[in-house]
Amino acid sequence: MTPQEALNKVYGYHSFLGLQESVINAVMAGRDAMALMPTGGGKSLCYQIPALCLEGTAIVISPLISLMQDQVSALKQLGIKAAALNSLMEPAQLRQTNAELFEGKLDLLYISPEKLCSEGFLDAISRIKIPLFAIDEAHCISQWGHDFRPEYTQLAVLKQRFPRVPLLALTATADELTRKDIVKNLNAPQAQIFIASFDRPNITYSAAIKDQEKKQLLHFIETKHPGASGIVYCLSRKRAERFAELLKEHGYNALAYHAGLDGDTRRKNQDIFTRQEGVIMCATNAFGMGIHKPDVRFVVHMDLPKSVEAYYQETGRAGRDGLPSSAMLFYGTKDIVQLRHFIETSNAPEKQKTIERQKLNMLAAYAQSPGCRRKTLLNYFAQDYAAPCDGCDNCLTPPQPFDATLNMQKFLSCVHRAAQASFAFGAQHIIDILLGKDLEKIQKFGHQNLSTFAIGQDTPESDWKSLAQQAILSGLVRADPEHSALTLTPAAWPVLKGLQKVQLCKFVKPAKALSKKEKRNQQTQQMPAADNALFERLRALRRALAERENVPPYVVFSDKALLEMAALKPKTTQAFADINGVGAFKLEKYAAVFLEEINKGEQE
Ligand code: ADP
Ligand code: ZN
Repeated sequence: MTPQEALNKVYGYHSFLGLQESVINAVMAGRDAMALMPTGGGKSLCYQIPALCLEGTAIVISPLISLMQDQVSALKQLGIKAAALNSLMEPAQLRQTNAELFEGKLDLLYISPEKLCSEGFLDAISRIKIPLFAIDEAHCISQWGHDFRPEYTQLAVLKQRFPRVPLLALTATADELTRKDIVKNLNAPQAQIFIASFDRPNITYSAAIKDQEKKQLLHFIETKHPGASGIVYCLSRKRAERFAELLKEHGYNALAYHAGLDGDTRRKNQDIFTRQEGVIMCATNAFGMGIHKPDVRFVVHMDLPKSVEAYYQETGRAGRDGLPSSAMLFYGTKDIVQLRHFIETSNAPEKQKTIERQKLNMLAAYAQSPGCRRKTLLNYFAQDYAAPCDGCDNCLTPPQPFDATLNMQKFLSCVHRAAQASFAFGAQHIIDILLGKDLEKIQKFGHQNLSTFAIGQDTPESDWKSLAQQAILSGLVRADPEHSALTLTPAAWPVLKGLQKVQLCKFVKPAKALSKKEKRNQQTQQMPAADNALFERLRALRRALAERENVPPYVVFSDKALLEMAALKPKTTQAFADINGVGAFKLEKYAAVFLEEINKGEQE
């Protein structure tokens, strides 16, 4: 079988994506390779297709035991002979898999690094034919990566023990240091490196300041992705729990996931998330790696992560299937103040602090940027991009710049005057003074006598709040991490003295529903308009089949394949086979039931 034949017959796909074909050719020619592709870029086929085309059993090293089973069942749905070996398996199951392996009955074996390198196993497999070692999530081998796993370092022996077997390292982390480390630590200096574009065209990126975070989250889900699967990332365990509760109160099927939950609960929640439709996972960054669920429609951040890398990795979990998806970042001055405080008070060496400070500042700048978000993200990964895009808030509704020098002067001056009595005040108090409010706290400090009292009545309170946030974010004032009390920084003086202008942007509030342009984007997914009612019926059928076979629904067919069915309404087995994602095995297994459902609709 050639790679092209495998692609068409086994997977039912019409053509290769991006660099898939080049990577496959390198591996088929026996060369070591490293593939850097974003999540959803189609890494799995890069090793699965050579495994099908070459003789023997390809070994796939994967760090997440709990997810191997899902991958194996997805392959079985394609008629591929695959199995997993790991420490979570029952002895009987282990024996059976071992037997299949040594009898040469498997095309692919998924295994954990510790199991692979365990006593005697490498000796044992030297007796069988191995055409390829594929190392998934290869950044785990690097100390520089964001997810170092010591057990991965043992993989250095593979090249020594099996010098002729090609190695394929796969990762979605593009960072240069990590990349060099992977090749070095795997003893594969000759590896050919393939770097795909990191753009994720189907993800719409947005960011907004938090003012009423709960409302903002609910509004976002209700208007953009009602009923869809999604992930809500939070900085703390407590917040993950709290948002899960909130969403449940509002009728969503929401769960929490963080390191504070016991292993069983974590596994159970993860299982529900992958197997059911429309589940929202509220999680800390402990969640997500290796989740192959293709139909995650949104990733929301309720707090600023630590770096652009972390942010990109986490948002990348949306829309693996290529259908329209969202990455929404809610950020606040408190997050930045807190994260800055963590860095300053940590025991890390000054050099590391400098790096961390820079990383945080880059992400804070991204959050506040009025420019194209996709461009900012891709430039960060040293990739060019010609803005505007058609999938970020700033390109879809460009923010309106305006001169805010006078109001900023009023604000800074008020911070300065109020703070004189060796006591500093928070932003709300300053705003109350500017608005000339008749409040007890103002009387108590005699602030009604300040020259800045009531000088800001021509500007609405909400504008003052956003200006205060901008003042903190841009470093004109510093907020005390504990009491949020404001003090001027040296950067404030040129503004106060009129030597420097301040320009702010008015960010247009998100519309109630999708904007026209966004709707158009959703429709330009190169797919004829699907029949919605039929799509829902096909989903229900898929759900029933998946339940019966005890696999996640997407393993039966992807949303994309169902949408295509609902649009094209194939009438014959031949036409059904032409749907992207219908391979020989699934055709045999499912054509009849799906055709029946599709044509039932036609007759009504
Ligand atoms: P990654 O591991 O890089 O995140 P996957 O291998 O999981 O990506 O692939 C992402 C999705 O794209 C999967 O649903 C997969 O079936 C689909 N896919 C992969 N290659 C192709 C292709 N050539 N044509 C159509 N769909 C593909
Ligand atoms: Zn853009």
